[in-house]
Amino acid sequence: MSDRPTSTDCVHAGDRTDPATGAVEAPIHLASAFAFDDAAQSAGAFAGENDHLIYGRWKNPTVAALEAKVAALEAGEDACATASGMAAISAAIVTLCEAGDHVVAPRSMYGEAARLLRERLPRLGITTTFVDQTDPAAWQAAIQTNTRLVYVETPANPTLQLTDLAAVAGLARERGLYSLCDNTFATPFAQRPLAHGFDLVVHSMTKQIGGHGDAIGGMVVGRADLVREVKEVAVKSFGGILSPLSAMLIARGARTFVLRARQSNATALTLARALERHPAVARVHYPGLASHPQHALAVRQMGAFGAIVAFELHGDLEAGRAVLERCRLLTHAVSLGDVRSLVTHPASTTHFSMPAEARRAAGVSDGLLRISCGIEETEDVVADLMQALG
Ligand SMILES: *Cc1c(COP(=O)(O)O)cnc(C)c1O
Repeated sequence: MSDRPTSTDCVHAGDRTDPATGAVEAPIHLASAFAFDDAAQSAGAFAGENDHLIYGRWKNPTVAALEAKVAALEAGEDACATASGMAAISAAIVTLCEAGDHVVAPRSMYGEAARLLRERLPRLGITTTFVDQTDPAAWQAAIQTNTRLVYVETPANPTLQLTDLAAVAGLARERGLYSLCDNTFATPFAQRPLAHGFDLVVHSMTKQIGGHGDAIGGMVVGRADLVREVKEVAVKSFGGILSPLSAMLIARGARTFVLRARQSNATALTLARALERHPAVARVHYPGLASHPQHALAVRQMGAFGAIVAFELHGDLEAGRAVLERCRLLTHAVSLGDVRSLVTHPASTTHFSMPAEARRAAGVSDGLLRISCGIEETEDVVADLMQALG
């Protein structure tokens, strides 16, 4: 358990009593600029000789407190907050890669991240090979002379396929490549990729760390030298900073992250087992089930199995739609990691932008439903799905 974040980290890391007032909750610093006492102080600040604050796009105390908290949750050296999860992903990639470079990434991954790699980055001269992430040999085989980065998402959205973290991090190290893991789905409660040797982790803070469905944000965590580069290149220059108001909301949510993750992960396991026994369900995807093809890997690299369960119905799109519409407690909405349990139909939403062929190759069938377990009572979540399945 010691290799997992604790509730004590969640509550205290990065936070301190406000020195000016003694307020136990630090004020939200909305200032865009910070005044200097004299010209010597401003000259020193610009020269990096003192750490007086200068401008909100460069550093903001409310945002910095959240960065320290999330760095502690992932046991990373440093962290850099961004405007969204996608801003974190694009910031990390454009910092690590330049024109002519090549990326190896999983075939099954978050839809917009796949689109960034497939459609946007080739315009900047960065190309990607997508591999079957369940096969460590496929990662190795995809490496080219110009490969710069291996990009991992495990469990992958929405198929819950796993990547062997230690194997891929080891491969990257051996071949002199950067390694980056999107840990949004698993969260540091279930696994900490940096401990397996990854250089950087990215998060959508919008999801389980923020956890309340009220703020969008992202984070890059890991090696201090690389995080510093991300701040310089992608945040200062490209400008995708997190607002202090969102940082405060996410930090407030993060204080209960471990408590919420315990409940949502427990519900997901109970729900996955119940779905597996239901006659309307053809297949359940959850790394915590013995029937998951990579269950042994899950046990090896995960301390819990996450809050997300996916399942396939007997029948097609219509069958999926009917179940969606009969849910009463579960909210039909995209996103995940909310206090509310959410249900989505990836083929018509999150993965709609993927070409149909790529979608199928990524394992997203038309009858696939995805549940993000919230923190309601486990029996209420299970009962709602059981009545929806009929
Ligand atoms: C939501 C999500 C993202 C993108 O995060 P935003 O905050 O919406 O930009 C990236 N990766 C995964 C796995 C996600 O679930």
